[in-house]
Amino acid sequence: MPHAHRSTSTTSRGSLRRYAQKRDFAQTPEPKGQKLPRGRALRFVVQKHRASHLHYDFRLEADGVLKSWAVPKGPTLDPKERRLAMQVEDHPLDYRDFEGVIPKGNYGAGQVIVWDRGTYKLAEGTNPAAEIGRGKIKVILHGKKLGGMFTLVRMRPRDGSENAWLLIKDKDAGAESGWDPERHSESVKTGRTLDDVAESRHAAKWQSNRTAARSGR
Ligand code: MN
Repeated sequence: MPHAHRSTSTTSRGSLRRYAQKRDFAQTPEPKGQKLPRGRALRFVVQKHRASHLHYDFRLEADGVLKSWAVPKGPTLDPKERRLAMQVEDHPLDYRDFEGVIPKGNYGAGQVIVWDRGTYKLAEGTNPAAEIGRGKIKVILHGKKLGGMFTLVRMRPRDGSENAWLLIKDKDAGAESGWDPERHSESVKTGRTLDDVAESRHAAKWQSNRTAARSGR
């Protein structure tokens, strides 16, 4: 199988077809989805998205794309909470840096911030796409806000909701009772809130302050 790697990239591109179909890239600043070289660490991002309904988009790198779930109440570090997570279309890897305004009339119109991001490891298995395909994935997140083990598990299909999953924090050192994502509302990329983005406030001042405060990274 000298060309086995080709089937992977074809699959990845194929899984982004729905992403591209929903969007007019002449109208929205979202990335078109060029394929990026794979790094060693698997990446995750959580984007807070105020569209017709406020939600958090939880995305895990798998098979060269971002597997994605919309979490209406957002992720939490509280292991007692089970958060509904609706699986949505795969997004391109470079979507993980997207923050800004999706113009009116476009799919998902509203504001997006990079609410959290970092890397993750599998707690079980070796292939994230295969774990997701089986309907359960256990990950260990290393983000700025989210840390420790989380389980995403598909609910039994009923009422035609085959895309319904639950996102649950496992009990470990990263767990925190009562933790509320709404109390952690700033972008980890720019420090902006959704309101800042809506009002097109620039992050330049915040970023220069932050760069000065940090000595290289
Ligand atoms: Mn969204």
